[in-house]
Amino acid sequence: MVRKHVTGPFVLPVRDLVHRPGEMREHTIEVAAPEKWGEGLVAVDQGEPVVVDVRLESVHEGILATGEVDTRFTGVCSRCLRDIAEDLQVEFQELFAYPGEEETDFEVQDDHVDLETLVREALVLALPFQPVCQPDCPGLDPVTGERLADGAGPQQSQPLDPRWAALQDFTTTNDDESPRTRG
Ligand SMILES: [Zn+2]
Repeated sequence: MVRKHVTGPFVLPVRDLVHRPGEMREHTIEVAAPEKWGEGLVAVDQGEPVVVDVRLESVHEGILATGEVDTRFTGVCSRCLRDIAEDLQVEFQELFAYPGEEETDFEVQDDHVDLETLVREALVLALPFQPVCQPDCPGLDPVTGERLADGAGPQQSQPLDPRWAALQDFTTTNDDESPRTRG
């Protein structure tokens, strides 16, 4: 009950697999993310449900974990800073080696494997660096900083330099000399 070192939300028993090459077990676990995963514009929030489908396979060197993680990331669009939330699905495969077998990032510990680091790293690596709310998000107006309307491309707001802006005013004024019709 109090064997704290072998408990954890992503810990799975492998007692019946250890040193039995060819044996395998499948598990599905759903865990609330124990902390916020990711440092960028988007992250998997603490408490977000994380579903792991994994096949644990006994091989000569250890336990091979193959599976898929399903969760959701939230954050802001890198162009317009609108809030976004999107499903995230990642596949993984990693060997948990028996202690002393070989250099490895992951080891079988006693009679269990802990998938937490593996799952976290797979998810964090899959988070987009430049997330967008939609593929053609027009972003922010570089002059006013306001959100551009959907569909209105940034082409109207190119001149950042005030000198070019002045020139644009000039041409706009000239173009406006078309005759007005009344009545
Ligand atoms: Zn956007």
